[in-house]
Amino acid sequence: MHDYAGRLRRLQQHLRDQGVELAVFGATDNMRYLTGWAEHGHERLVGLLVPREGTPAFLVPQMNVSQAAGNLAGIHQVIGWDDGAGWHDAFQSLVDRWRTDRDGVLLIDDELHAAHLLGIQRLLPAARYRPASEMMTRLREIKSPEEIDALTRAAQQIDAIYAQALEALRAGMTERDLQEWVLEAIRQSGSRPSFTPLICFGPNGAVPHHSPGDTPLQPGDIVIIDIGCVVEGYPSDITRTVSFGAPSDPDADRIYRIVHAAHHAARATARPGVTGEEVDAAARRVIEAAGYGAHFIHRTGHGIGLSTHEPPDIVRGNTRPLQEGMCFSIEPGIYLPGRFGVRIENIVTVTADGVRSLNAEVPDTLPVVAPGRTLF
Ligand code: ZN
Ligand code: ZN
Repeated sequence: MHDYAGRLRRLQQHLRDQGVELAVFGATDNMRYLTGWAEHGHERLVGLLVPREGTPAFLVPQMNVSQAAGNLAGIHQVIGWDDGAGWHDAFQSLVDRWRTDRDGVLLIDDELHAAHLLGIQRLLPAARYRPASEMMTRLREIKSPEEIDALTRAAQQIDAIYAQALEALRAGMTERDLQEWVLEAIRQSGSRPSFTPLICFGPNGAVPHHSPGDTPLQPGDIVIIDIGCVVEGYPSDITRTVSFGAPSDPDADRIYRIVHAAHHAARATARPGVTGEEVDAAARRVIEAAGYGAHFIHRTGHGIGLSTHEPPDIVRGNTRPLQEGMCFSIEPGIYLPGRFGVRIENIVTVTADGVRSLNAEVPDTLPVVAPGRTLF
């Protein structure tokens, strides 16, 4: 099990070190990271309050009290508020009990509802409000061995589903058909999707975040499959590019090889001490040298942990050095409008002297899939 109590202790140490009075979290991945529990309250406040000193408290709707009491961090202080009275008085009395400095600094979960923040600001108008993301990034970006194990299991599960998806490709099926197939396979594996499966056939692949629709699969299409599932609370995220039958575009294999080389150039660069932007540049150099720099229109990767997208970003401007235990995607792509796209995405973890892929490796030339069977 994850060391939730230790995570809370480290957070409180950071609060004291940085002169913060109180951190307030909503029902987000931050709450889940700190306590092992989070349940969305929609417009109702599901809050976790962590003071610099003393015992943290949950402040949740009455109907969520028993769930919150089952948190894995051993937080016994679970205060239920009811719909009639609201949560403001209970918040006030917690702040009084902790002797929170009303002019002090409060850290606010970046994903807390604005309405709840506005309510807190009315209670403590003189306090200074800062986003919690920077401090939470420091806590969350280095993964424990247990977290890397969970990410690895999620990676292996989606790799297996991807292998089955190739067998399911049929001429005439639509992007939405394949999306539904993947969702069903994820459900049958006992998991849930970490995001809506992204399926692009043919020219749609030139739009990195195309919404799967009614486009039918035709022989010669380049197919992009970007999918992930959640295992033990941790997500996976892979992108694979294949040709359905011999590619109709004569450049497809050449472009695939460039993206594959860029993917591996980034992986060969990443290690402790190297920055996110250096890894991004390594991938970009390969694609620029091949003359397709203008067609690589997104960052090289994003961190992954409890959230599918979290720091560190592998992007120009990220000058923080990588450290052992960080986990992120490497997903360069080339997008040729009206023709096709290629993207290759694996999740890697930083080791003592490089990175290790959590996913199976892809072929270094464009895989060609025939209806009903795969031919590599
Ligand atoms: Zn992806
Ligand atoms: Zn991704």
